[in-house]
Amino acid sequence: MADPVFERLALIGVGLIGSSVARIARSRGDIARVVVANARTEATLNRVADLGIADLTEIDPARAVEDADCVMLCAPVGAYAALAQQIAPHLVPGAIVTDVGSTKQSVIRDIGPFLPQGTHFVPAHPMAGTEFSGPDAGFIELFQGRWCLLTPPTGTDDRAVSKIRTLWERCGATVSIMDAAHHDRVVAIVSHLPHLIAFTICGTADDLADETRQEVLRFAASGFRDFTRIAASDPVMWRDIFLNNRDALLEMLARFTEDAQAMARAVRWGDTTYIEDKVLRGRKIRQALIDLNQA
Ligand code: NAP
Repeated sequence: MADPVFERLALIGVGLIGSSVARIARSRGDIARVVVANARTEATLNRVADLGIADLTEIDPARAVEDADCVMLCAPVGAYAALAQQIAPHLVPGAIVTDVGSTKQSVIRDIGPFLPQGTHFVPAHPMAGTEFSGPDAGFIELFQGRWCLLTPPTGTDDRAVSKIRTLWERCGATVSIMDAAHHDRVVAIVSHLPHLIAFTICGTADDLADETRQEVLRFAASGFRDFTRIAASDPVMWRDIFLNNRDALLEMLARFTEDAQAMARAVRWGDTTYIEDKVLRGRKIRQALIDLNQA
């Protein structure tokens, strides 16, 4: 077995993502010698202890990062600035701070300024998830075959980037490095807009009269059912994502709204070619995802 990438990995947040990393680190042994778990509540830490997925639990984030050569923030992105402020004075020289947040420019804005000289910051976003939350939701295969995008700011220490790359590769992910602004535009279209549409369509259905709402649920067809799965995600996490990727999300929403209007016009005027063309494009995109093993 290869040497562990880190001596001590502190996970700040142990929900779906953090607990999956903890499970992998504990089962492989080549990611970190010691895994420390921190969460907001004792209930979560007690559950982590029962599950046996961390070596140590610590409710105080400042104490959790003591002696850690890697600190990974796995809480909702809206909590990052306050967490960074709390942990910064307790980081050891040379420590690598990383995260798993779904937005990257905001994370660089919120964490970067607090980090002391001599520590390194490598923002990351594993592109894997489910609609479930909390330490019970995590599982070892979560990142297998998925992308993990790293967005190190210019001038970031190469060795720190390489260590975080190795960590994610050992978690089963394929790593790609990109600019944070580019990342935020990409995820706005492939993840954030689809969630916005799912929450909205469920809200629209729910706004219908009582009688109709019962019909919607009783006869829910696969299209609506698929939206409800996406819409079952955690409200705080998604509130934070929308507010922290506001510009890119609003831009993609504006483009989508224009395209939806064009489809509405085609439906109104019976433009069969336009409608068929759009459905065909959707099928091709689905097939491409299947071919890329990302379906
Ligand atoms: P989760 O299951 O809801 O877990 C969140 C964890 O953060 C919990 O341990 C929670 O502690 C802790 N936490 C919540 N609020 C906090 C606060 N204000 N201060 C300190 N700790 C706090 O969330 P998740 O799905 O793992 O998501 C974590 C991060 O991963 C988010 O930034 C999200 O954007 C990103 N991400 C999520 C997905 C996905 O599909 N879920 C995919 C990729 C990236 P308690 O349990 O004690 O409250």
